[in-house]
Amino acid sequence: MLKRDFELNFKKLAQEEHQFSYHLDTEFFLENGTNLVDGGEVNVLLTVDKANTQLDLLFKIDGELFVTCDNCLSHLIYPIKGESRVYVKFAEKSDFTDDEILYVHFDEYKLDLQEMLYDFALLQLPMRKLCADSSNRETCEESTTNRMNENTSNTEVHPELEKLKRLIKKDK
Ligand SMILES: [Zn+2]
Repeated sequence: MLKRDFELNFKKLAQEEHQFSYHLDTEFFLENGTNLVDGGEVNVLLTVDKANTQLDLLFKIDGELFVTCDNCLSHLIYPIKGESRVYVKFAEKSDFTDDEILYVHFDEYKLDLQEMLYDFALLQLPMRKLCADSSNRETCEESTTNRMNENTSNTEVHPELEKLKRLIKKDK
């Protein structure tokens, strides 16, 4: 998908419900992120409910992310599925954001969804990603498991992901 395909031009939308679909591929994840995932194939169905002074964005996420097992470092194809919701409110000031509300200035007419799509896809990952929950492996690689267990630091949560989880409360 081209960069402009991820722009939501909300000004021209009628005040009703609209649906958009996005496909996030490995190129998308590598372009937008750090090294939290190696790629993926994720479909997102976005429902936009437009009202006078706000937009209600519901992201339905379904697909697979390519990650590394936190236990044995095997490459995993990890199924993800879930929803995230954001309210966009139009206001005079747009330089602040609280947990679930994004404030956008009255003069704005579009939103770049790339960061939200990236963040919400990654938010569907559990704290610990293990072979047993992947779709390409059943159990951990034993030889590396023993080695990794001696190293306690691998149980730490990635600080950036932790920050994300705090910033955006997952909609269940
Ligand atoms: Zn493993």
